[in-house]
Amino acid sequence: MTLPSTDRILLGPGPSVMSPRVMRAMASPVLSHLDPEFVGLMDELRSGLARVFRAPEGSLALAVSGTGTAGMETAVANLVQRGTRVLAVVTGYFGERLAEMCARYGAEVRRLDVEWGRAADPDDVRKALEVSRADLVCIVHAETSTGVLNPVEAVARIAHELGAMVIVDAVTSLGGMPLDVAAWNLDAVYSCSQKGLGAPSGLAPVVFAPRALEKRVTCRSFYFDLTLLEDYWVRRKYHHTMSSSLVYALGEAVAMVEEEGLEARWARHEQNHRAFVAGVTALGLSMLVPEPARLWTLNTVRVPAGVDEAAVRRHLLQRFNMEIGAGLGPLAGQIFRIGLMGNGSTPAHVALCLAALGDALGRRPQP
Ligand SMILES: *Cc1c(COP(=O)(O)O)cnc(C)c1O
Repeated sequence: MTLPSTDRILLGPGPSVMSPRVMRAMASPVLSHLDPEFVGLMDELRSGLARVFRAPEGSLALAVSGTGTAGMETAVANLVQRGTRVLAVVTGYFGERLAEMCARYGAEVRRLDVEWGRAADPDDVRKALEVSRADLVCIVHAETSTGVLNPVEAVARIAHELGAMVIVDAVTSLGGMPLDVAAWNLDAVYSCSQKGLGAPSGLAPVVFAPRALEKRVTCRSFYFDLTLLEDYWVRRKYHHTMSSSLVYALGEAVAMVEEEGLEARWARHEQNHRAFVAGVTALGLSMLVPEPARLWTLNTVRVPAGVDEAAVRRHLLQRFNMEIGAGLGPLAGQIFRIGLMGNGSTPAHVALCLAALGDALGRRPQP
């Protein structure tokens, strides 16, 4: 095996650029999953995650072994059982995945489909729930396939008014975009380690607020059973062999988020996003998503007519050692997906990406 010898500039939809601090933390000596020193670190990670999620008192926050999809499955497997009525708000690829997962766990899923590239309208959620009530509303906060920010706070308010709980996918928002589980009254929220937080992939932060903890169902999955995970994280009962290396990495990444401060971090992501949009506009390119629904963490730029998008990505990779993402599903070939998240959201990465795009397209910025 020939290992990579240079740092790829990771400006795709994730994983994001990793800091040397996180890399070094990961190389610390391995501890076993029930070592007294290790369980102390798990406690610190739990409280750090609860603060970063801004979880309300009485919540359970922990990191599931697995990627963002494991977080999704943990939320679904513990709140959905046969016959659970789910309203799935689908604004892109990850909304689809969430709807499908609910169906696999036996839910009666109704979909509210929104055109890819547009945000959900809370009024449509209200209408859908008034026509037919649901137990659960599922929605993706930051839809990475389209670059759209969904109005999660308003949707949660409506869902609760009409008697439903909400599952929120915060995989591309946690650590990069404003998210407040307590103030927005969200019930179950999950994320990943490798996007806004800037750790390697492999752990999925999840949080269950008190109402969701009470309403948990008998979980059909052993690995993602919240009660068993709680037994391990809180009562130190063996469930699986948690990777200490990944806990060190995520713990260090969360510490870096808290040192920077959530609000300062959100402001940094907004600033670099705005600078990037100004730059692509000067290159004569346009954004897929209209304001104010643009993600700061993931920019979707339209591929200009006559341009081979795969050739542009290849050029960036070969000439600049830089990765950006391609469009998915109905947007394949039509957009570039450029992530400016976590450690990748810096003025230097913005400038380098704009220069690389200009070089690939043979364009210079116009004032
Ligand atoms: C990346 C992503 C996921 C899936 O995460 P994995 O780490 O690839 O399993 C889920 N939802 C959204 C919105 C994502 O961006």
